Amino acid sequence: MAVKNIVLLGATGSIGESTLKVLRGHPDRLRLAGIAAHTRYEKLAEIAREFAVREVAIFDETAAEKARASGLFPPGTRIHSGPEGLLALATLPAADVVVMAVVGTLGLHPALAAIRARKALALASKEILVLAGKFVMAEAARLNVPILPLDSEHNAIFQCLHAEPQRQVDRLILTASGGRFRDSSAEEMRNVTPEQALQHPNWSMGPKITIDSSTMANKGLELIEARWLFDIPQERIDIVVHPQSIIHSLVQFIDGSILAQLSPPSMTFAIQHCLFYPGREQGVVPTLDFAQVFRLDIRPPDLDRFPCLRLARAASAAAGVAPAVFNAANEVAVAAFLKNQIPFLGIPAVIEHTLAAISAGEPENLDAVLAADAEARCRAAEHLSAVAV
Ligand code: MG
Repeated sequence: MAVKNIVLLGATGSIGESTLKVLRGHPDRLRLAGIAAHTRYEKLAEIAREFAVREVAIFDETAAEKARASGLFPPGTRIHSGPEGLLALATLPAADVVVMAVVGTLGLHPALAAIRARKALALASKEILVLAGKFVMAEAARLNVPILPLDSEHNAIFQCLHAEPQRQVDRLILTASGGRFRDSSAEEMRNVTPEQALQHPNWSMGPKITIDSSTMANKGLELIEARWLFDIPQERIDIVVHPQSIIHSLVQFIDGSILAQLSPPSMTFAIQHCLFYPGREQGVVPTLDFAQVFRLDIRPPDLDRFPCLRLARAASAAAGVAPAVFNAANEVAVAAFLKNQIPFLGIPAVIEHTLAAISAGEPENLDAVLAADAEARCRAAEHLSAVAV
């Protein structure tokens, strides 16, 4: 069977780690052709040595300089850097699948470049579709390039849809763990510290997404992401809290039947599905154990305690640049919260203020979206002092 060449952008993050786990399990089927990271070049060098990777990109120029001087990479390694470095990796001639797992919207241009180079795009960075879903999906459709959903919820929906005709789909049901504070009172949530918010009950992930999970902004971003990936209006996408993170999402068809995808909470299932799609291979971590008693609880989310969810839905309904504004304001607010500049509940306050400050026109092109994104970041930053601790 043919070997698939994989390029992994965001190799040192948690998705990167899970992707490497899948690659280790299938050395004869999957080959790592290129890797990229933001700054952590020592870890990148370890990966380069383990997988004999010769094409490497480090986004941060200073870190890239250190990497070149370090002697840590195998002889003959090409070390690219900056935004051009990510583009070089995303369009690497040898690549069959590009795994996009860089934090935030940094991956937007590399994602578009990968699509234009006709690479299958396994998309983990949800912010890319939240920011520019209209343009990214249009480009993929125009060039007939598959976008493979790597986020566990969207991958679950992708598996359940199984190419059923659109008209047969009634609703998508996204599951949410509910995050660290799903059972906390409104009063307790007032005094949440970054240290507390960074502890996720089920998933081990990077700081940005862990905070997003604790505010449930993550599920809001996923709602918007699902809207673009599956071309379904937001009012037909439900969100339910499922604390065990075993049902990764569900699809309800027009006849009332519901299909769900289940697996233990490990990203390797979704990643492996993307890498071998449309085929399947042996998994790399233990499966669900039906000899054990386990529970699958479902309950509706509390929009009062998790206003980010309500704001994300409002942004999705407003459409135009509103989702991009939501995302930008959230990124600014989360960064400020992590630096102890604003309280936990300051995050939705900053988002709400920023959404109200920017009119949600329909963007004519990518530049209009990027301008709205930049303006939102300014407005959000200005508002930080108003909610400061
Ligand atoms: Mg997810």
